[in-house]
Amino acid sequence: MSIPNKHYGELKDSYLFYNIAQKVKKYSEAHPDKKLYRLGIGDVSLPLCDAVIKALHKGVDDQAAKDSFHGYMPECGAPFLRETIASYYNKRGVNLTSEEVFVSSGASDELGDIIDMFDRNTSVLIMEPAYPAYVDANVMAGKKIYHLPTGSDEGFLPLPKEDTVADVIYICSPNNPTGAVYTKEGLKQWVDFANRHGSVILFDAAYEAFIEEDELPRSIFEIEGARTCAIEICSFSKTAGFTGTRLGYTVIPKDLEREGMNFNSMWVRNRTTKTNGVSYIIQVGGAAVFTDEGQKQIHENINIYKNNAKIIMEALDEVGIWYCGGKNAPYVWMKCPDNMGSWEFFDYLLENIQVIGTPGEGFGKCGEGFFRFSSFGSPEDTAEAAHRIKKLLGKG
Ligand code: PLP
Repeated sequence: MSIPNKHYGELKDSYLFYNIAQKVKKYSEAHPDKKLYRLGIGDVSLPLCDAVIKALHKGVDDQAAKDSFHGYMPECGAPFLRETIASYYNKRGVNLTSEEVFVSSGASDELGDIIDMFDRNTSVLIMEPAYPAYVDANVMAGKKIYHLPTGSDEGFLPLPKEDTVADVIYICSPNNPTGAVYTKEGLKQWVDFANRHGSVILFDAAYEAFIEEDELPRSIFEIEGARTCAIEICSFSKTAGFTGTRLGYTVIPKDLEREGMNFNSMWVRNRTTKTNGVSYIIQVGGAAVFTDEGQKQIHENINIYKNNAKIIMEALDEVGIWYCGGKNAPYVWMKCPDNMGSWEFFDYLLENIQVIGTPGEGFGKCGEGFFRFSSFGSPEDTAEAAHRIKKLLGKG
């Protein structure tokens, strides 16, 4: 008889987005005339930029001619894209080679797959509130999970403490859901801690392109010592609108070793066994993101989202509500007013002003009492939602 992975039975029901959808459906059925303002979505709303679309078309045409046709792609990524990504880092003063860059089908895929490289008995540390996939992927793999709750007193950016040692440490900066971003000094503390204890940091940089303050680190590899303790996972999804196109990359330095085993070599072995590479067409499209034209165009889109975040922040400033994020991130994380619970606040916004956000409790227990607004909606809807929030919360 085959034995299933019993750890799947330990997964908690993922009710966050299901519950939101149910509540919204019920409300819409009862009030078909009311327009809804969606500030809850984590998906992008703007199309791929022109430079990427042109490159995708070229990729398709290449596949139509015998001389330019590509079959299986190299499992670790097309050399042209690995080199382009390495030079994107090099230009920012981060030293890494193309062999340290692995092209992927997206950050979610990698966040799940990368766990393969760690022993069954590995412990992981997850700072919460957190992107839900970190916990679930580790539950499925049967890993021992230490939850590190954080709060507004530390700006949702916890620093290491000697009793929080684990083999693997997840860090997401800019953070989903809090929008909080580590400084170089904060990250240096985690890097030193990981090197001291032999831990490996899994650094999720999915929102690096939203950082506008030069002194904030966009990569863990801007921190001295990170090459011996960190893996960086990144995505084209929010940076360049690839949520439905699928592309990402992972950086594993050749200096990262534990117990005589080299993680870069292990990942080469893993990829050559478990994938047959990412589509040639999509990789051609991805390379266009790093051209001057591509960079200009993706930042035009990012600036539209950032302006949405600014409008939400201004509304919260006006009514005197605590929040973090928004400036260097696409998410604004606010404290619910009048000590409301996060689901209570969700209902309050939906019923009174038809604005939809995401209850913080869905990202871990310590998210209770907080609420996430996303800036990925349309500017018109965001402006109207902000106006309604100001009117509702500023009434007292
Ligand atoms: N990491 C974080 C923090 C995210 O918020 C998301 C998506 O919302 C991902 C990873 C997944 O990215 P991808 O679309 O590349 O799978």
